Amino acid sequence: MSMMQYQRRPNILFIMSDDHAAQAISAYGSKINKTPNIDRLAREGVKAENCFCTNSICTPSRASILTGQYSHKNGVKTLNDKLAPESRSVAKYLQGNQYQTAMIGKWHLGTEPQGFDFWRILPGQGAYYDPVFLEQGGKKQYQGYCTDLITDFTLDWLKGADRERPFFLMCHHKAPHRAWDPGPKYRDFLKDVLVAEPRSLHEAVRHGVKMRVGEDMTERDLKQKPPAGLSGKGLREWAYQVYIKDYLRCVQSVDDSVGRILDYLDQSGQRDNTLVVYTSDQGFFLGEHGLYDKRLMYEEALRMPFLARYPQEIPAGSVNRDLLLNVDFAHTFLDFAGLGRDQYMDGESFRTNLQGRTVDNWRKSMYYRYWMHDDPDHHVPGHYGVRTAEHKLICFPMNGVKWELYDLKQDPEELRNVYGEPRYADVVKRLGKELIRLQHKYGDEPAHF
Ligand code: CA
Repeated sequence: MSMMQYQRRPNILFIMSDDHAAQAISAYGSKINKTPNIDRLAREGVKAENCFCTNSICTPSRASILTGQYSHKNGVKTLNDKLAPESRSVAKYLQGNQYQTAMIGKWHLGTEPQGFDFWRILPGQGAYYDPVFLEQGGKKQYQGYCTDLITDFTLDWLKGADRERPFFLMCHHKAPHRAWDPGPKYRDFLKDVLVAEPRSLHEAVRHGVKMRVGEDMTERDLKQKPPAGLSGKGLREWAYQVYIKDYLRCVQSVDDSVGRILDYLDQSGQRDNTLVVYTSDQGFFLGEHGLYDKRLMYEEALRMPFLARYPQEIPAGSVNRDLLLNVDFAHTFLDFAGLGRDQYMDGESFRTNLQGRTVDNWRKSMYYRYWMHDDPDHHVPGHYGVRTAEHKLICFPMNGVKWELYDLKQDPEELRNVYGEPRYADVVKRLGKELIRLQHKYGDEPAHF
């Protein structure tokens, strides 16, 4: 391949935050904050409305993004699993095909990164302040705020990159992960504001999960003891304000980071030949259903923000509504790099979808499975399900099988389980068949957890 051909292959800059819910991005219609820099990607590129993770939790989603595989295929089903170093991954493919590759920030896959020319990662969850980073050949503690440091390292790497070859750079923020420690710039942000509450803040807890805003938050989460005498509804309202403000403060620093990185690309003349993606490893509950955290197959945790800019082929200000999955990212990036598909990957390339043309026979349903059954901190039961554009069917198979069905057109907030309602009997039958079809297709065996 000639040098000219190398130059035509796009750079891929993948920015991923941790636990950033789409409903805390103004381009997605946030009612509680503004993210002007992330919104630039929506204005100058495409916003995917229906991008979903296949297992809504950090480590498994990261493994699915890299390998293009469902959790049961790549072996990373829970937070306790590690990505096998010999796993096939998009980074290895790109590195093996002339791409310069780098991984900066939160990794959280238990083993050393493979397929990267350069990596500098947080150990485990990492720290918000003065974090230690691991890199080839050692570790070092840096002074400062994690989001700013990850941005600095990303810009440093970009400035030193070889302009004759394309790059694949993963910039992974720790923020806005629990325990939501704001950066110095935003400590007082929203201080005197009352942030709007979601409608379902006081909903009765589902499935006995321990992710309630208020009663299931620690003093570390809240950075203080709750006022004496507060309980139930009052405690939840108070804790929601503390929680959401810290969360949004963390988001604000991530938004600044995106702005700095986009500015650098634009100023260095790399705007047109760089695919920039912003996403999060999963969504998050911001008080909806009374919850924080993720894991459950409900919309807020299932949906990943996904925004992409590549002026050469993605129409500015466009919106994509196809069902896109985290297992698709690897193939999509290989496709942008002009490389073929890997038969071991479960996902499909959605490069064409991002151009505004839905691929023929594109999926009409997606399969989800949460494997980390009843962990001691969150008590979320294992479950699996199927989502289409209109409906979602979820099975909780443990302790007596329980089913839920949501009519997403009538009830986008999933406030009413219509599983037992006679008028939905046909939908239940159809989606039940589809669930089994998808389990067969992906080789999953859902009998037990
Ligand atoms: Ca996460």
